[in-house]
Amino acid sequence: MKTAQVENGKLIIKEVENEKLNGRKGAIVRVLGCGLCGSDIVKLRHNLVKNGTVLGHEIVARILEIDSETDFKKSDLIVTSHHIPCGKCEYCKNGNVSMCRHFKQTNITPGGFSELVFVSEEHLKNVAYLKPENLKEDEAAFYEPLACCVRAVKRAKLAQNSTALVIGLGSIGILMAQALRAFGMNVIGCDLINSRVELLKSLGIEAFNSYQMCDSISADAVFMTSGSDKAIPTALKYVRDGGKILVFSSTPDNSGYFNNEIYYRELTVLGSYSPSPSDLKDSLELLKSGEVKVKGFSTFYELEQIQKAINDTLENKILKAYIKLFD
Ligand SMILES: [Zn+2]
Ligand SMILES: [Zn+2]
Repeated sequence: MKTAQVENGKLIIKEVENEKLNGRKGAIVRVLGCGLCGSDIVKLRHNLVKNGTVLGHEIVARILEIDSETDFKKSDLIVTSHHIPCGKCEYCKNGNVSMCRHFKQTNITPGGFSELVFVSEEHLKNVAYLKPENLKEDEAAFYEPLACCVRAVKRAKLAQNSTALVIGLGSIGILMAQALRAFGMNVIGCDLINSRVELLKSLGIEAFNSYQMCDSISADAVFMTSGSDKAIPTALKYVRDGGKILVFSSTPDNSGYFNNEIYYRELTVLGSYSPSPSDLKDSLELLKSGEVKVKGFSTFYELEQIQKAINDTLENKILKAYIKLFD
């Protein structure tokens, strides 16, 4: 089978032996496609993973072979996430499921940018679903990224009708804004790229070019999806005293929020990382119901073009890359 493997900060296509069940419970799936996540790019560019790693986790796949106690069967078309919390440790008990050590260890093998993938029984039981029929495969691939946003919205614990500002309207920002709306918030989005501002507006959500924001905006919460250090002063400018800043991406300089600013303004700065099984369930419902729209967001690339997909993403030429492997 073909895979895209990490090699010294790049992805190269490598032929490896087919993934097989080999007596394990679970399923071997054929990957129809896999979304390219911003975190895949960060891992690659900052050498956070070993050579030989197969990245990719936003898969839509068909079951080829299965040995499972679940209702899934051969030829089912599924979506799945990659990590599963144990539900028993201190992290899980305190609601930090994505910090659970079991969560971090579990994964689909070898990774989504592969023709064949092993999805364990634990995945099938906890985080896999049939692809909803009313969604195209690239739309269903937003199952996991939208769930990350759902989790962030829940963690912010905002009162209904709170004003939430989303800084950065890449695919995640656009999902975040829609998730916030679905949870009853007044949402404003901003980005430096006008086409993204227009996209959010076309979805019925107020949006501004960051340079043209009115100073009167006072947000109960600011959601940081841009991945830029420059967004931090913007967040501090627009969050109201006593408000919240939800950190949702890494930034290159890893610079931060100042102690005294947090103290004197009584701000809450909190992070949200990766979704729980219940966030995933909610995400699929939001996609299925059309409350969160993702139609036409994806640009398709073949596996061999994955490096181009990464470059196009980095250059903001596209909103979201979907690596298409099979029909
Ligand atoms: Zn992702
Ligand atoms: Zn746990």
